[in-house]
Amino acid sequence: MNKPAAAPPPPGVDHFFSFPGARADRWRALHAAARGWEQGDAAPAEVREAFDELLPSEAFFAYPGRGLLESLRKRIEGGQAGAAAALARRVSEAILTRSYKTDPADWQSAEIAAEAPADLNTPTLARGQGHRPYFEMLLVAPGAGSRGENLITQIRRLRRPEDAFIYEPVPVGSFEEAICAILLNPAIAAVTLYEGFGHESPSELPLLREFLVSAGFDAGHVAGADLPLSLAAAVKRIRPELDLYLLSDRHVERIAGDPRAAGIRRVLYAVEELLELHLCVLEGVGERFRTPFFDNLKKYAMRPISTFHALPIARGKSVFKSDWIRDMGEFYGLNIFLAESSATTGGLDSLLEPTGNIREAQAMAARAFGADHVFFVTNGTSTSNKMVHQALVAPGDIVLLDRNCHKSHHYGLVLAGGQPLYIDAFPMTEYSMYGAVPLASIKKALLDLRAEGRLDRAKMVDLTNCTFDGHIYNTRRVMEECLAIKPDLIFLWDEAWFGFARWSPFLRPRTAMGAAEAIAGWMRDPASVTAYEAQQAELGEDPTEAALMQARLIPDPRRIRLRVYQTNSTHKSMSALRQGSMLLVRDVDFAEVEAQFHEAVFTHASTSPNQQLIASLDVARRQMELEGYGLVANAIEIALDIRKEVNAHPVISKYFRVLGADEMIPAEYRQTGFEDFLRPGVSWTDQVRSMHEDEFCLDPTRMTLVCGTAGFDGTQFKKLMADEYDIQFNKTSRNSVLLQSNINNTRSDVANLIRVLLEISNGLEADLAGGGETGRASFAGRVKSLMTDVPDLPNFSEFHEAFRWDAGKTTPEGDMRSAFYSAYYAEGCEYLPLDSPEVDQRLKDGPAMISANFVIPYPPGFPIMVPGQVISAETIDFMRKLDVKEIHGFERARGLKLIRPDNARDHIRK
Ligand SMILES: *Cc1c(COP(=O)(O)O)cnc(C)c1O
Repeated sequence: MNKPAAAPPPPGVDHFFSFPGARADRWRALHAAARGWEQGDAAPAEVREAFDELLPSEAFFAYPGRGLLESLRKRIEGGQAGAAAALARRVSEAILTRSYKTDPADWQSAEIAAEAPADLNTPTLARGQGHRPYFEMLLVAPGAGSRGENLITQIRRLRRPEDAFIYEPVPVGSFEEAICAILLNPAIAAVTLYEGFGHESPSELPLLREFLVSAGFDAGHVAGADLPLSLAAAVKRIRPELDLYLLSDRHVERIAGDPRAAGIRRVLYAVEELLELHLCVLEGVGERFRTPFFDNLKKYAMRPISTFHALPIARGKSVFKSDWIRDMGEFYGLNIFLAESSATTGGLDSLLEPTGNIREAQAMAARAFGADHVFFVTNGTSTSNKMVHQALVAPGDIVLLDRNCHKSHHYGLVLAGGQPLYIDAFPMTEYSMYGAVPLASIKKALLDLRAEGRLDRAKMVDLTNCTFDGHIYNTRRVMEECLAIKPDLIFLWDEAWFGFARWSPFLRPRTAMGAAEAIAGWMRDPASVTAYEAQQAELGEDPTEAALMQARLIPDPRRIRLRVYQTNSTHKSMSALRQGSMLLVRDVDFAEVEAQFHEAVFTHASTSPNQQLIASLDVARRQMELEGYGLVANAIEIALDIRKEVNAHPVISKYFRVLGADEMIPAEYRQTGFEDFLRPGVSWTDQVRSMHEDEFCLDPTRMTLVCGTAGFDGTQFKKLMADEYDIQFNKTSRNSVLLQSNINNTRSDVANLIRVLLEISNGLEADLAGGGETGRASFAGRVKSLMTDVPDLPNFSEFHEAFRWDAGKTTPEGDMRSAFYSAYYAEGCEYLPLDSPEVDQRLKDGPAMISANFVIPYPPGFPIMVPGQVISAETIDFMRKLDVKEIHGFERARGLKLIRPDNARDHIRK
């Protein structure tokens, strides 16, 4: 994409996210200036300026390093235009292609080669020794500025040919620079702290200062001899996956015993132990690199094994010897068949009752995702959700849930016999979609249950975080306020799309596990009891419902049972094969329900789980622990790029736009007044406050692109993009499509999307210019129809009284399971064609029409009718206007399937 050449605007919040791309851009700019200079088109001052621009942040990266930067500076100052351009190009390309990770030549310059022996400057062994993964180690040491080169040399001397990985040290001299480095440099995988460094960076880092203050990491909060421990805590908060080492001259035993040193992997005595440090660093990365199940599967595949079990495809014999299906073998390659097995011996372990490497792989995933336990699930999150429902919910228990959540929750409740208490999300009628469930509605539902004396029945709150369209809950606040009303409530957060969020310090606090971690920390803090008691005193003996609704309720830290479950479709946001899913547990009472979980696994998991899926879950975890931070940062950067490019483009923005946070989330849920990441003047402090306090935030990677303004409905536009341009989108609404950036996207994808949108926009411009008044009027009519004549979304009406025999008088839960099974008696059901006058008659005069099953149109993809629900006029209206083809649970020819009210009573719990 062409970036305007004008002076860069002052750094905004997005700047913070777009560092990797910005760095490559700065190098490209330097190269362009140097080439211009060489060709006589640019002044040397421009080159100097471009160089000065990039220099400060280069201290946070190992490559190109001080030596090459110094040569570059000399060439620029010495007037060697050609040599400067050549070196700038080489470095720029190496950064862009990341070739420096494997190619020693990238690290060489004529000057350096003359001064130092090559082996000290090259990151990899001589060619031919095989590829070793590369990472960087941050060294925080006093005086890193002056003795940095020495430190680098010392560390490089420790390399041995048998090392499994290769790393380069990045020395910095202060707390501030250390934070900067781990934020900006995703290649850092380990951090070593030498005692004695200070807090302040010698150079000005305005955006960083703001970040440090907002996160409580400024000099006012952390100082003195504790600096290394404070830095260790800060690093763990930002990038929990990093290994930390402390080199000390003091009593290392005493430091190691300090509870604040808990996040430090090893404390070493500084003077003697450099080799020890080197070995620890490699071992630490090796511990994340290890994939116990996958490693063993690879070994298993290579063994000569005769199989006499089922699964003819194992070892590929039935495929490669066949005349008829050999192409399958050629297509997939031999390994997938060698790795297929139905055995649970040979070290392969059993997913249903793991005791070996699956158990270990799950434990490693638990560590990585911040959970206590993880279950690998090979039938998608659809199954993970049903497992949670079955394991935790007994017949009659009440589950509060978003009516718009994924169908697996609704079916899970049918199976478990739990009573759904549906709570509506806020509607976004103009875009034909729902947002998320307001906390006030959840609190109200709980308080109503309490008023009915039924709070003990409320077992679980079940919400989707983030929603399909990107609404992120304030997970911590939701759990705290709910726990203030019922201290042992269980939470199920369906984070099907959001598993990757763990790897972004910006999103992590709003994940289920991030919030659980914060609440657990809060519970340990004695100030929390004080805060709770102060609020109790203020609320008084018997607070009114209004007072409870008004207050931001503080739970009693001594009474809370923190029981948090998360499910994620690892395959949706990380490198797992389709259907690879994880179920994360952080439940203080897990021991009491563990047996139930095993039953749920036995109920739902296949007895023939796919080995490749399990392996891919293991590998997805490895990837995220070693490069997740950079990948997620990149996905966010790409999303912000798309948002900017579409909305600012003079032609594209006439027809399309990506909705900002302010358009996706009504102002009442953005209490801090935060509008959007890309709004000029939005500071990092605003961003952090919004993340902490606002009821809902928007996941930047989920982009609602409005296409109704270009005259396309969502489905039509999705099809056009897929058929004509090979660009695939996620879901659609009446007038929008959902784009999602992922850990796999590149800047070329952005460029391609923008090019295509421009082509379509230009086409529209031409059509409108050439189409005359009638053409323009017809276009305007179509846009109006798509953008303003949108049907109201039907809220959940109510369960029919026949299915409320066990419900509260004022609370809306219902016995959905009985309704579901009532429909199994054909004689008790009837069909009414949607357009028949009888439907209107019944709406007017009764008897009520009771839905016999789930009716789920795609889009929007949630049940607009559930079994036992009274069908309202709004629902009929919506169904009649609905112009989608795929409606699960509805046969147009036969009509609505209804439970006859007289029958309804007969088949209930007899
Ligand atoms: C996709 C999805 C699921 C189901 O996950 P699968 O892995 O496809 O079975 C559950 N919940 C939500 C919110 C989803 O988006």
